[in-house]
Amino acid sequence: MIRFTNVSKRYPGGFEALSDVTVHMEPGEMAFLTGHSGAGKSTLLKLIALIERPSGGQVIVNGQNLNKMGRRKIPYHRRDIGVIFQDHRLLFDRTVFDNVALPLVIAGYSHNEIGRLVRAALDKVGLLSKEKVYPITLSGGEQQRVGIARAVINKPPLLLADEPTGNLDPQLSKEIMGIFEEFNRVGVGVLIASHDHALIRTMNHRVLVLDHGRLAGDGYVRRSDGA
Ligand code: ADP
Repeated sequence: MIRFTNVSKRYPGGFEALSDVTVHMEPGEMAFLTGHSGAGKSTLLKLIALIERPSGGQVIVNGQNLNKMGRRKIPYHRRDIGVIFQDHRLLFDRTVFDNVALPLVIAGYSHNEIGRLVRAALDKVGLLSKEKVYPITLSGGEQQRVGIARAVINKPPLLLADEPTGNLDPQLSKEIMGIFEEFNRVGVGVLIASHDHALIRTMNHRVLVLDHGRLAGDGYVRRSDGA
């Protein structure tokens, strides 16, 4: 669950990246966040993950008022949010298995538990056969799927993705979006920042539109494939 009430974000230097944004997403909802480059999409995702704090207004995520969350609680908050980046940020000197296992290693899980969870996550993104290879040998779409497996390894109730298909061709982009839909189908909330309007139009999900930091639209688009 995400609730923004009159949220603004002013960066040091004075630029207001978000202005008076009020929006609510139910638990388990899937939505796209769109808008021009610089509209404030990444900033909004960063406020949810507490990578940045708002300058004004209130942010509530997974039932927690983030305004009141102290530093020591931030790592626990982040464990409940899977974040996927456009450049997937994989470690190229580690195998696929080790990349996906990383959050669990940091959290102190046992060897057996790590093996079980990593294989389950790789299976969900269709990469079980690639666990021993290095990311450099994978295609762009496969690398992004490794990033998704790493993000979902803790079974977070909420996934945030920042331009997850930015470097992929239309077919691979559609496959990646299909993976997000599968997680959403089993109850995971998904918020995807994307400027890929052609792709968004083929999917029947809520679309939030930012324009110069303001929420300029919130609704559903008609599917262009007639379905
Ligand atoms: P989008 O993801 O929609 O492209 P961003 O949220 O990345 O937009 O950026 C919104 C605006 O805030 C941009 O004008 C950007 O330059 C500015 N901005 C983003 N991060 C910072 C920062 N750390 N310091 C100063 N300005 C920033």
